[in-house]
Amino acid sequence: MLEKAQQLLQTYFGYSSFRHGQEKAIQSVLQGKNTICVMPTGGGKSICYQIPALALNGTAIVISPLISLMKDQVDTLVQAGIPAAFINSSLSFQEANERIQQAIQGKYKLLYIAPERLESQGFIEDLKKMDIPLVAVDEAHCISQWGHDFRPSYRHIQKLITSMPQKPTVMALTATATPIVREDICHLLKINEENTIITGFERKNLSFTVIKGQDRLRFLKDYLKKNEKEAGIIYAATRKTVDQLYERLKKENFNVARYHAGMNETERTREQERFLADEATVMVATSAFGMGIDKSNIRYVVHFQLPKNMESYYQEAGRAGRDGLDSECLVLYSPQDVQIQRFLIDQSSDPARIKQELEKLQSMVDYCHTEECLQAFILTYFGETETKACGRCGNCTDSRESIDVTKEAQMVLSCMIRMGQRFGKQLIAQVLTGSKNKKITDLSFDKLSTYGIMREKSAKEVSDFIEFLISQELIAVQHGTYPTLVVSVKGKEVLLGQQKVYRREAVVSRQVARHDPLFEALRTLRKQLADSEKVPPFVIFSDSALKDMVAKRPQTNEAFLAVNGVGEHKLKKYGEAFLAAIGNFLAGNLGQEPEMAAETPVKKAATKPVANSHLETFKLYQEGLSLEEIAAKRELSLVTIENHLLLCAEQGLGVDLDGMIPNKFVPLLEQAVAEAGAEKLKPIKERLPDEVSYFMIKAYLLLRKKVAVN
Ligand code: ADP
Repeated sequence: MLEKAQQLLQTYFGYSSFRHGQEKAIQSVLQGKNTICVMPTGGGKSICYQIPALALNGTAIVISPLISLMKDQVDTLVQAGIPAAFINSSLSFQEANERIQQAIQGKYKLLYIAPERLESQGFIEDLKKMDIPLVAVDEAHCISQWGHDFRPSYRHIQKLITSMPQKPTVMALTATATPIVREDICHLLKINEENTIITGFERKNLSFTVIKGQDRLRFLKDYLKKNEKEAGIIYAATRKTVDQLYERLKKENFNVARYHAGMNETERTREQERFLADEATVMVATSAFGMGIDKSNIRYVVHFQLPKNMESYYQEAGRAGRDGLDSECLVLYSPQDVQIQRFLIDQSSDPARIKQELEKLQSMVDYCHTEECLQAFILTYFGETETKACGRCGNCTDSRESIDVTKEAQMVLSCMIRMGQRFGKQLIAQVLTGSKNKKITDLSFDKLSTYGIMREKSAKEVSDFIEFLISQELIAVQHGTYPTLVVSVKGKEVLLGQQKVYRREAVVSRQVARHDPLFEALRTLRKQLADSEKVPPFVIFSDSALKDMVAKRPQTNEAFLAVNGVGEHKLKKYGEAFLAAIGNFLAGNLGQEPEMAAETPVKKAATKPVANSHLETFKLYQEGLSLEEIAAKRELSLVTIENHLLLCAEQGLGVDLDGMIPNKFVPLLEQAVAEAGAEKLKPIKERLPDEVSYFMIKAYLLLRKKVAVN
C-alpha cells in the first residue's frame, strides 16, 4: 500500500520521499481510519489527502474555507496531471452545475467545495450520487467554537458525513489546534483520538529576528534593496501605515503592491494577483492579507509594526518559505507600537476579552525583548515542552559586540530633563547637536549646559540613539497631539549612575537567498510559461524545484525527472523548454537568460533531445489548429509551441509570422526595437504594453531579419 503511495508521490508530484508525518497520515487514511493531521504551515498537509485521493477509487471531497486557495490548489493539481475541480460562489450556476455532473460521472479525483455549499439540500443529494471514498476537511479548526476562526458553516460537515450512504473516511487537517480544539474536532467529526498525527511546530527553514532601536524605514529600504528579486510581505498594523509605506516605497521604485480592508474588492484582487504572479515582489498589507495565500516562494515576512499576539504572528510569519527554502521573518520593534496595539485592543468591541488580549500582547512584547532563542520562545508559547535553541534566529546567531554607552545615555536623559520633558525626538537631537534652529534660540535652549554636547554626531545619529533608548525603555513616549518623550524610572537610575547601558552594533540587513544566473534564467522562463497559461509561477515549479535544477543541471529526460518537484506530467509539459534553457546555459551560448538573446529559443530547439518535435507541431499547424489547440493536443506548453513555430519559420517552412502580430502593435514594436535595439528581448518588452508577448516580439524580429536578408 505504501509502495503505491510512494510511487504516486514520485509520478505526480516528483518528490522522492515523504516528509515527517505524511506517511503515517496517508497510511491511516488508506486503512479507512478517520484521522486528524496537525502540521505547521508548509508542513505538507495537502499531500496527506491528495495521495489517498489518487490511490482510492472515486472522487475525494475536500472542504476548504478559502476561495482563493481552492483555485491555486486545483491549478496545482491540474498542472501535475491530476483531474480536479472546485465548486464555490465564484462560479455561475451553470458552471457549478456542469462540474457537479462531471463529478457524478467520476471525472475528477478531487473536488474542492466551500462549506457554505452544504447548506443546500440539493447539493447534498448530488453528493450522494457520487462515488466518494474520502472527505478531507482542511482548516479543520474552523469547526470548533473554541478555535480562533470558528465558522458556523463548518457545522454542516457533521450532518453531511452522517448522511452519506458512501460512508467515506474522514480526514481533518489543521496547522493550529490547541489540545481543546483538537478534542473538539475529533468529537465533532467522529475521529478516534488515537488517530492523531501531529508533528512539531518548528519551521526549520525559517529564521526569526527582532530588530530594535534602529531607523525602521531605513532598515527596510536597505533590506528590500538587498532582496529585490525575492517575494516578500510587509505587514503593518493600520491601513494608514500601509498606505504611507506603499507610497514611500513606490516612490523609490520598489516593485510594491498593497492590500487592506479599506480598498475595494476589485483593487484588492488586482493587487493580490500581481503579487501571486511575481509581478509585484513586495506586498505591503494589514493582517487582512494572506488567508488562503498559497504562494510558496515568499522569502521574507517583515512586520514593520508589532503584531497583536503570537497566534497571528506565527501564522503571518509562517507564510514565508512554504517551499522549504531558507526564509526570514523579521519584527521591526518600536515601543510606540505597543501603544498602538493597546489602542486597537481598547477599541475592540468585546470588553470581556480586553484583559486576555492585553496579556497576549505582553507575550509579544516579551518575545521582542528575550535574549533566548526566538524559535524556542514561540514553540514554548504554543505549549511544546522540549525546545532547543534553533541556531538560526537573530538571537542564536548574534555575535555583535556590546559597547558601553552609559555616558551618552546620561547626556540625552539629562538634556531632556533640562528641556522640561515636553518635546519630541527631533528637537532633543537638535539641542544635543547644537543646532541653530530658531525654535531653539526662541526657547533659550542654546543656553543649556547640554546644548551641543554631542555636536560631533549628526542629528540623525542622535535621533537613532534616542530611538535605541526608547527600545531599552529608558525613555517613555507619551502620546498627545505630538508624541513627547519623558525619562522613565529606569532612565532615572541610569542618570544616577545605578545602571549601565550597553548597545550592540546595528544589525546589518542580509540577503535571504543567493541565486546564480541559471536560476535567474529558469525563473524568467517559468514566468513566461506562467503568463501564457495564466497561472501563478509557483504553480508551475516551486523555487525549490528550480534550485534543484540548478544543482543537478539535468540534460536528459531521466535526469529532469530526478529533480525534486518534477513528476511525469510536468516532464512532458515543460521538460523540453527547461532542458533547452539548461542546455543553452551549459553551452554558454546565451546572454545568461533564455529569453535575452533573441534567437536562442529557436536555436536551442534544434539541439534538444526531441529534435523533430517542431515538425509535429508544424503538421498540426498546417491542419489549421490554433496554437492553443496544438499545445493542448500535444500536452506541451504554449511557449514551447510558439518556439516550435519560430524554429519552423527560421528553417523556411511556411509559417505566417505576420499573422501572429496584431496590426496595431507593429508600429509600437518598430519604435521599441529602434529604442532598445534587437539584441535583447527584455528591454524591448519593457517598452511595450503587457499584451505584446515575447512570442510576438520574437516573430517580429525574425520577420525583420528576413526582410533585411531578402
Ligand atoms: P501545508 O498545507 O501544510 O501548509 P502544503 O501542502 O502546501 O503545506 O505543502 C507545502 C510545500 O511542500 C508544497 O510546495 C509542497 O509541494 C511541498 N511538499 C509537500 N510534501 C513534500 C515532500 N514529501 N517532499 C518535498 N516537498 C513536499
